Parts: sequence; structure tokens; C-alpha cells
Amino acid sequence: MTTVARMIPHSRPSIEYSDIHAATEVLRSGRLAQGPLVERFERRLAADIGLAGGVAVNSGTSALEVALRVLDIGLGDEVILPSYVCAAPWLAVQRVGATARLVDIEPETYNIDPDAARRALNPTTRAIIVPHLFGLPADLTALEPLGVPLIEDCAQTLRALEQGRPVGSVGRLTVCSFYATKLLCTGEGGMVLSRDEALLDQARALREYDEGAALTPASTNVKMTDLQAAIGLAQLDRLPSSLERRLELARNYTAAVKGTDLRPPVVPAGRSHVYSRFVVRVSGLRHEPDALNDVMARFERSGLHCRKPVFRSLHRYLGLHGFPAADEAERTALSIPLYPGLNDDEVAQVLALLRGARA
Ligand SMILES: *Cc1c(COP(=O)(O)O)cnc(C)c1O
Repeated sequence: MTTVARMIPHSRPSIEYSDIHAATEVLRSGRLAQGPLVERFERRLAADIGLAGGVAVNSGTSALEVALRVLDIGLGDEVILPSYVCAAPWLAVQRVGATARLVDIEPETYNIDPDAARRALNPTTRAIIVPHLFGLPADLTALEPLGVPLIEDCAQTLRALEQGRPVGSVGRLTVCSFYATKLLCTGEGGMVLSRDEALLDQARALREYDEGAALTPASTNVKMTDLQAAIGLAQLDRLPSSLERRLELARNYTAAVKGTDLRPPVVPAGRSHVYSRFVVRVSGLRHEPDALNDVMARFERSGLHCRKPVFRSLHRYLGLHGFPAADEAERTALSIPLYPGLNDDEVAQVLALLRGARA
């Protein structure tokens, strides 16, 4: 018997027989492109969130771009977004020709700081992109009264509650991603959702280039295929049980880091966490740029592939300053593998490593 631990990847898509069966059925049907399953996936996810409908597209990035276009945002308009997020929301703002106004995050939750967003408001502000990071809702209650349309970015968070409301049900528009590492994974894919049918009609007109009532120069081809929708529907059936498993793992991880140099995720009152990522704070790190890399390297040598949950804050790419909470997150936040596909041996290995974790 070998005692060498195998590498536990940071994430792994959960593909089960039902996904394979659903995909095979589509391949046999001869109908591969956007069709009835895309429509069913849109209806099912919209109903799950509590919205009127959805418009499936080829990625979360496309969904963000379509959402901005539907709100008629473009040149001369500003869109507020947090600096501590992947590049997709910033890119979507660039694609429509608007200006991205970066703001800092709440230090404890990693989500957009509503006070910072309020201070960034000005007459050209047309929307706030609100990512719910790592499975925890942003403070929608504080963001709503700012009076600017919210685009909820649910790429990392579904079914979590904020003051009893499901994420995605509050904003003017909501976007999702079904990239391989997300809660629902179809390889690539995304969706724009809303309670406003008129906005959904506009989104539908933007995702395809043909057979519109008129030529729409902003239209493009960002459609999803029935092959992906079939997998998405199978995954949606499993979402409740996979979220339950994530919660159970998160409870065990949280108990394991007690008394170590790792602080578990904070869940403020009135919000629930679905742990699409388990992001810990490493406390007591040396104030050197690669102190966190050393911790990651140690885990790596023990067979655990951890990652910085955001590769680099947007303000650092852009050479901007004044984002202390994002800087601190980048310096100290570490994402520990947590997903339903971990087997019992792997979970035991993670727990053992967490119990012994030091900065
Ligand atoms: C993944 C992600 C996106 C982009 O989605 P893609 O499908 O990869 O284009 C946007 N926002 C957030 C918060 C994400 O996590």
C-alpha cells in the first residue's frame, strides 16, 4: 500500500450519470443548437430564483455584456463594481464603451462595500454590478436604497438568502455563469434573468443575429446549445443535494480550523452562505508579498491544491490606489478545495491538513 497522498485539485466539475445520459439524448436527437432544452433551462432557473424568465447565453461574461446593453448603458455612462473580482465584469463594461468605477469591498465578506458604492455615485452612474462572491450574498439591503439599477452577478452564488430573499431576485437584472468551476456547470454558459419581460425580450434580441424585426447592430451570436442546457437541467435537479453536501463540508472545515492560523468565512446576520468556495483568512502572515504563496506551497507539498480566490484585484491591474480591503484580501485570503465530488479519503486529508495549518 502506498502512503503518498494524491493531489486534491482546487476544483473539479461534478459530472454524474444523469448529465451524461442527458447529453447523450441530445446527441441522439439531432438537435444540437439552441432549442427546447435551452428554453426549459431558462424557465427552470428563473423559477428557482423567483423571476419571470431568463435568456441563456454562451458565458457569464456575455450575460454581463447583454445586461448592460439591455439597460442601454454605453459611452459616457459609469458602472460601479468592486475591485476584488475576476476581470469579467470590468471587461463587460469596456465592451459596451462605458466607464468602470471601481470601489472597495467589505473587509470581512469580500463583497462590494455599500458605503464605498454610495460615495462613488455621480450623475453619470447608470448601474452597480453586484457580485455575490464565494457563495455569500452582498449587502443588497444597503445597496437597494442607492437608487441605481443593480445587476446581481450570481456566477458564484445561487439559493443563498439575504434578509430572507434569494440572491438574484432583487436586482433589475441578474446574471449567472455555468463555467466548469461554478455551482451549475455546463462547460461554458451563462444566463441573464429578470422579472421584467420587456428587458428579457431585449436580451433575446441581442443574443442572435437573424430573424429580428429590424437589424440590431449590437446583436451578435452568444447563444447556448441544447447540449449544454441538457447538462444544466440535470445539474439543477441535483443542486439542492450538492448544496447540502457543501454546507456539511463547510461545517467540518470550520470546526477543523479552530485554534489554527486560518479564520473561517464570516457569515453576517441575515445572510446565508452556500460555500461555492471555502475562503479562509490566513492570520499572522509576514508582511511580505509572497508570504501567502509559502502557505500555498506547503499545502501543495501535502497534496492540497489551494488558490488565491481572486487572481488579482482590478485596481492593481489598472495601477489604482485606495482599496485597502481588497489589498488585504489579496494578501491573506486563501481558497481551500470544497466541492461535492471530494471523496471521504480526500475530505479526511483536507481536514487533517487544516487542523495543522500555520501561517
Ligand atoms: C465566473 C465569473 C464570471 C464570468 O463568467 P464566465 O462564464 O466565465 O464568463 C463573472 N463574474 C463572476 C463573479 C464570476 O465568478
